[in-house]
Amino acid sequence: MKLKKILPIILCLLLSACSGSAPEEYSYDFFAMDTYMSLTAYGDNAEKGVKAAAGRIAELTLMLSVTDENSELSAINRGGVAKVSEETAGLIAFALDIADKTDGALDPTVYPVLRAWGFTADQNRVPAPEEISALLKNIGHEHVQVDGNTVALDKGMMLDLGAVAKGYAGDETERILRENGITSALINLGGNIQLVGSKPDGTDWRLGLKDPAGTGNIGVLTVSDCAVVTSGSYERCFTAEDGTVYGHIIDPASGYPADNGLISVTIIADEGRLCDALSTALFVMGEECALEYWRENKNFDVILITDNAEVLITGGAADKFQLDSAYGNLTVKVVEE
Ligand code: ADP
Ligand code: MG
Repeated sequence: MKLKKILPIILCLLLSACSGSAPEEYSYDFFAMDTYMSLTAYGDNAEKGVKAAAGRIAELTLMLSVTDENSELSAINRGGVAKVSEETAGLIAFALDIADKTDGALDPTVYPVLRAWGFTADQNRVPAPEEISALLKNIGHEHVQVDGNTVALDKGMMLDLGAVAKGYAGDETERILRENGITSALINLGGNIQLVGSKPDGTDWRLGLKDPAGTGNIGVLTVSDCAVVTSGSYERCFTAEDGTVYGHIIDPASGYPADNGLISVTIIADEGRLCDALSTALFVMGEECALEYWRENKNFDVILITDNAEVLITGGAADKFQLDSAYGNLTVKVVEE
């Protein structure tokens, strides 16, 4: 055959090979766990995997919600003791373990105080100091007993998994997507990001790190195959009559919203629930204790934005972060080991 005749055939084959290699993409946006979520997966089973994962998140929402009276968590809070699923008991045990390791900076029993501040009902108020000190008596992770599937609380105590539930939902979403053969996906659970593999073209994902004070991104994180979770007081907060801004992350030691000089804490690690738990805990701790905790553990990387315009990054994340040129007012520092 003459080359003139073969050429269109070869071109045609090449083109069909190209279009055939573009993987199927399926995205689904929905509302769960009191936040907007978005799942995007690539590959043959993208739609099936995403739908199965969204169904799983709906189940977890019903199990773990502190405000839904039919949830397993509400059963514990109502009766002080309840037999729950192995999964709920396991997540409570995990939260208690991190509470222990962080000296109670994360404390799933902080709920009575959180409720007094009106955060769960979106009816914010500043409780009187006496009210807070009375409620603090009902707080303390050491007073929760998990025995198999049975969870028991001391009188007056209540559990809230708001600081870890989304992270765990990220882990479950990743597990289900992988079970469906998906090796590339972007899981966004209200700002909790979890990445399955890299982008379909094999390159890293580029995640914008939100400006806590504005609407833009202070920079870009170039990462793959990990969870990235940010906690900050700027997302859910209210301004009192005297102009003070109060955030939704409570320092369990004082009963007041954490106010330790940090504007946001971003944790990067393999597991979503660990990232979620630590982003809340390190936000409560403040810069010095947070970095001390990192030095002692190092099973994660962290980016702290401080109220004196510093971005503190631990080693593993330093070369993955690029500050946006519009944020030249911020000083980026790599944290010493
Ligand atoms: P977000 O839910 O906005 O992503 P976090 O993961 O930091 O943020 O979780 C904050 C939620 O955790 C609060 O809304 C509340 O339900 C709960 N919470 C607040 N302070 C604490 C704390 N010190 N320990 C455990 N849970 C907390
Ligand atoms: Mg958290």
